[in-house]
Parts: sequence; C-alpha cells; structure tokens
Amino acid sequence: MHTASDSHSNPFRCARSRPAKISILRRTTIMLHETDVAVIGGGLVGIAIAYGLANQKVSSIVLDEGDGAIRASRGNFGLVWVQGKGLLLKEYTPWAMKAAEYWPELAERLMSETSIDVGLMQTGGLFFCKTPEALAQRVADMAQVKAQFGGEYNYDILDNAGVRKMVPEIGHTIAGASYSDYDGQANPIRLLRAFHRAYGALGGTYLANNGVLGIRHVEGKFEVRTTDGIVRAQRIVLSAGLGNVKLGDMLGVEIPIRPMRGQIMVTERLPQMFGLAMEQVRQTDDGTLLIGTSWEDVGFDLSTTDETSRRIANDAIDFFPFLADVKIIRTWAALRILSPDASPIYDELVPGAFLVTCHSGVSLAAIHAFESAKWIVEGAVPQSMEAFGLKRFAKTKRPQLVA
Ligand SMILES: Cc1cc2nc3c(=O)[nH]c(=O)nc-3n(C[C@H](O)[C@H](O)[C@H](O)COP(=O)(O)OP(=O)(O)OC[C@H]3O[C@@H](n4cnc5c(N)ncnc54)[C@H](O)[C@@H]3O)c2cc1C
Repeated sequence: MHTASDSHSNPFRCARSRPAKISILRRTTIMLHETDVAVIGGGLVGIAIAYGLANQKVSSIVLDEGDGAIRASRGNFGLVWVQGKGLLLKEYTPWAMKAAEYWPELAERLMSETSIDVGLMQTGGLFFCKTPEALAQRVADMAQVKAQFGGEYNYDILDNAGVRKMVPEIGHTIAGASYSDYDGQANPIRLLRAFHRAYGALGGTYLANNGVLGIRHVEGKFEVRTTDGIVRAQRIVLSAGLGNVKLGDMLGVEIPIRPMRGQIMVTERLPQMFGLAMEQVRQTDDGTLLIGTSWEDVGFDLSTTDETSRRIANDAIDFFPFLADVKIIRTWAALRILSPDASPIYDELVPGAFLVTCHSGVSLAAIHAFESAKWIVEGAVPQSMEAFGLKRFAKTKRPQLVA
C-alpha cells in the first residue's frame, strides 16, 4: 500500500489538482485539470471515497452534475442499518456490521473537522411486521441471514407485547418486530454537507456542473470529458449512483443497477419520543417523523402519488395510532440504486477504473471512506471482496480495455 509518507514509491504525486486553460479551434476555451484520481459523482458514495482519498493525501477531483441531477443522497431515510443485510449475498452481513462499527469514528472526525453534527444515534433498531405472515417471513429471513453468516449475530424477534416494552406507542394490531442493537440512524443531509466541507478543507476539488460525457484511455491516463472541460487522471472511480450505467457503457461494461422509487412523508415536529431507530417510521433529530416504505419499480419517475401516500399514511397509523392527529408537512420521492441482489457492487472494470455503488450509502459511508478509498490508492479491490464483484451477475459482459 502506498501512503503519504511513502512518497518515493507512491504512484500518486500527493499534489493538489492543477487546472489549466487550453484553446481548441481558437474560439473555445476549455478547462483542463490533472489529478491522480477523478471521482465521478458527488453523492454520499463518491464524496465518502474522495474524503478517504484526501485523508491519505492523494489528490482527487470530484466531478458532479448540477442541481437538477437525480440524487438518492438527498432523498433517503437516514438509517445506519445492519439487520437483514446479506440475505441475498452472505458476505454483505459482515461488511454491513463492520460499516456500522466504523460509524462513531466517522461522526467524531467529521465533527472535529467541520463542526457539523451528523446526528449519529446507534441505539438499536426495530423492523415492524404488520401481520403474522409478515412476522413469520421475517423470522425465516433473519434465521437465514444468521445461518449464512455463521458467526455471532444477535437479534430478537418480538411479539406485540415485546415491542410495546420498547415503544409503548405501538398499535395493538401490529404482529411484532425484529430488533437488533447493531442498528441506528444519522442525518444524511448533514452527513453529505460534512463530507463535502471536510473534503474541501483537506484540499479536495469539487466541480459541480461537470457531468461526464465521455471517458477515454490515452497514453496511460484516463481522459474524462465533462460538460465543462477535461480531467486527466491516473485512476477513476465510478460512483455516480444510477449514472453509473452510462459511465459503464463508456467503458464497455454493463452495470446491472436500476432505479427503485421510494416515497417518504414528513410530519410536523414532535417532542423526541423514541429512543431507538425504526425502519418504517424514523424520528429525526429535529423532531419530524419520516414515514415511508414504498418500493416502486417505475423507472426514473420521481413523482409522488396519492395512492402510495395514502397507503404509507394508513400503515403509519397502524404502527402508531397517535399519528392520525399529526400533520404531514411534505412528501417526496427518490430513486434507490438497486443491484439484482440489493447488495453493493465493488469492482475494477478496466485497470485503474473502479466501480463503487450500493443501495445503502448512508449505512456504508464510514467503511467507504476508511476502507474502500484505500483500494483505489492500492490499485486493486482486495481478493477478500471478490464476492462483491460484477462476476456474480452471470450475464454481465466483461469489457475490452479501452483504447
Ligand atoms: C427512498 C430512499 C430511502 C433510502 N434510505 C436509506 C437508508 O435509510 N439508509 C441507507 O444507508 N441508504 C438509504 N438509501 C440509499 C442511499 O440514499 C443511497 O445508497 C446513496 O445516496 C447513494 O449515493 P450515491 O452517491 O451512489 O448516489 P447519488 O446520491 O444518486 O449521487 C450520484 C451523483 O452522481 C452524479 N452523476 C450522475 N451521473 C453523472 C455523470 N455522468 N457525471 C458526473 N456526475 C454524475 C449525480 O449528479 C449525483 O450527484 C435510500 C434511498 C432512497 C431512494
């Protein structure tokens, strides 16, 4: 591994990116940047990686689209969640557990570097099951996750009375819940802001309004063409959420992710009343409740719908009957970035071009910053992470090296 102190052997120069202006056809001036790593996408995944690179004193530029972009990082639920992860890919269970363990260090570091409190609360979490059938399914799923994991994996299955001991406000019709103390929540918008601020303070360069239009490999470097100029980099990271599909095309790689809409409703502010996280109803640190568990396969449609809002509201009242008297103040939709097994994809697509994408960018934020960023510096996704590669999706085409 190359570190900042290892500057003689480090393939990166540990210098800040250098912009220069060049003229093409005399009339157009475009911005040319040279850097060690171009990170494409400035959402939670890209900025976590970029922050990790900056911590290792590796120069990088984050290329992002503008305000109209599709961004899961600004529309999510904010859970730092472990329970249930790994059902379809067993290696995801220990990865999610380790990610949760890293989180307190991330929250502390961001606080000391930016004075932003990212609102981390890791006090355990409940996953409610409305019906006995749903509870039976949850029992089976959690048992499968535990058996596949094979190590110590603590959780409880609770009936209504058991849930009531933890949250007395629970509705009497709810069958039960699963509980694990690995789970928690954070404020995802403050997390995003803190990452960006810390990255800037460490010398990182963030370029908004720089959607990537093309990627070429020229003279041993990647030449990344954006709407605003060209960035040359030794390595690139594809961390553009749903935009990774188009970026993969540019490298000749099919990336099997798709949008999955989730609608969220937000209530007026209420006094803090829950001492733990809940997958279906989450109280934020400013007192509002986020409600919502829709999974809608509707492509890139970002609308909210009356039908789903009604269903979410009715479910929420079943969970917590007092909500019938609480005002909803806003609602939004955002698109999950979903792989076929709902697990992250980490791979090196062609030498020097890394893909980092996942559905759980809040939960995995700390591990992306502290571990995944090292893969980019070391120039390889470790063997131990092979299970997360594209190979697991049999039909995915492997690329030819870009010319
Ligand atoms: C409803 C909902 C609830 C969720 N709840 C949780 C939760 O509770 N816990 C959790 O851990 N996760 C949750 N998630 C998932 C989480 O939000 C995402 O995993 C995370 O935000 C993904 O971050 P990202 O950076 O990969 O993608 P995004 O946030 O979508 O960012 C991608 C960025 O890439 C940029 N981009 C795209 N194409 C290009 C291009 N060609 N050139 C340059 N830039 C480009 C975009 O402009 C954008 O800024 C939820 C998601 C949704 C939708």
